[in-house]
Amino acid sequence: MDIVIIGCGAAGGTAAQFARKNNRKALITLYEKGPYSQYSRCGLPYTLSGEVDPDKLIEFSHEWFQKARIDLHLTTPVTKIDFDKQYIYTTNGEKKYDSLIIATGVHSHAPFPIDTKKHSFLRTLDDAHHIQRMATRGTHIAIIGAGPTGLEAAEALIKRGVTVTLIEYYSSLLPTMLDSDMAPIIHDTLMKRELLSLTLNHEVTSIDGDMDIHIKNRKTGDKRTISADFALVASGNTPVLDLVPESMTDRGIIIDERCETSKKNVYAIGDCSQYRDITGAPCLVGLGSIAVRQGKVAGINASGGKAVLPPLLNTRVTKVFDLEIAAVGPLSTGLENPLVSTFRGSSRPLYLPGEEIRVKVMATRKGKLCAAQIIGPGAAQRINAFATAISCNMTLQQFSGIETAYAPVVSPVFLPSTLACEIALRKQ
Ligand SMILES: Cc1cc2nc3c(=O)[nH]c(=O)nc-3n(C[C@H](O)[C@H](O)[C@H](O)COP(=O)(O)OP(=O)(O)OC[C@H]3O[C@@H](n4cnc5c(N)ncnc54)[C@H](O)[C@@H]3O)c2cc1C
Repeated sequence: MDIVIIGCGAAGGTAAQFARKNNRKALITLYEKGPYSQYSRCGLPYTLSGEVDPDKLIEFSHEWFQKARIDLHLTTPVTKIDFDKQYIYTTNGEKKYDSLIIATGVHSHAPFPIDTKKHSFLRTLDDAHHIQRMATRGTHIAIIGAGPTGLEAAEALIKRGVTVTLIEYYSSLLPTMLDSDMAPIIHDTLMKRELLSLTLNHEVTSIDGDMDIHIKNRKTGDKRTISADFALVASGNTPVLDLVPESMTDRGIIIDERCETSKKNVYAIGDCSQYRDITGAPCLVGLGSIAVRQGKVAGINASGGKAVLPPLLNTRVTKVFDLEIAAVGPLSTGLENPLVSTFRGSSRPLYLPGEEIRVKVMATRKGKLCAAQIIGPGAAQRINAFATAISCNMTLQQFSGIETAYAPVVSPVFLPSTLACEIALRKQ
């Protein structure tokens, strides 16, 4: 059996590993257009502060793949697929496949033409090296986009002694992760600490050669200019769909629960793919955690096994400026007339010093849990409890009835998550 995989990122590299685990005899060939084998893109922001050496982000080396008898070809882009003949074509030749896994990831895009000397994305190890070189102490870097990447990069650059201006198109921070009524907590924390300059609700219209960044207020139309030495662009990505016909795609390559596309024995995984979320809505993949799980499913199926991908919860977390922020499920705007409650509690009983925890819970009118957002200590583990509950189809009633652990020094009797559900129940 000949398995061919395109892209050695989190999705493709993992697929190769699971195909090998599941089928000791299969011939597995992996093509990667870049010069690096599988590495952690999620670790890239931490290279900017100097905390992490970029070369340490390589999780599975070329030699590792060789030892696993996976034939990895670096700097070898696949240029064409013939789905009828079951052949792929590269800059070096061609190869027949029995199963094909497409894991080509995303393109980053900018709202203006990129000049690689003065602007950079933060998507690759080369980007990280480039930004490190530009981010000397005292330079002024404008970050365009206040999603997790923009905010994580901002914190890292500030640690490096760089002056940071953050420009966001939408009116709140982390606009794809938090509802606009949760995000101000982060905004207020940043403002109190006076760590960076923040401009929300502004569109970058152009950047000229002298690094004057022209921005326009989306509400008033007022225009102004920010001068910087360098721009880090973290304003969004689009799936790489160059190798497949339009009939296989919507916003990404459409896949089913086996990660199989509309073509038999052809799978798509990771950021280039489109699946469905727990509400049944089509959903692009944009998380490493999902890419790896898809890699496992596609690797097993492509090598003759059986594995299934559950609907996506989009369980996500970040930590910026000491604030842990986590979410699961769609934003409230993606839900139809949800029951919503928010609760502001503490990590410990009020008689002991604790830290503030904000919880927002969303459920259907019948009380079925469908989304949550949490800011505060332990947000990731608290959101994982919601993720478990949502994937088990639990209701507000069931979740708030769970016996949770209590000792004053660690946690209150009723967790802020429990109380948020109780408030939602009263609204039912
Ligand atoms: C800065 C940053 C921080 C992040 N933090 C987190 C986080 O904390 N948690 C989280 O869950 N996710 C995070 N993510 C997202 C996560 O990294 C991605 O979801 C994940 O990398 C997607 O994996 P992938 O394999 O689909 O795509 P990629 O990792 O982009 O890999 C695709 C690969 O395909 C190759 N390729 C493309 N076209 C071809 C071709 N024609 N021929 C051969 N090779 C090709 C590309 O060179 C690339 O190496 C972060 C991303 C970034 C950039």
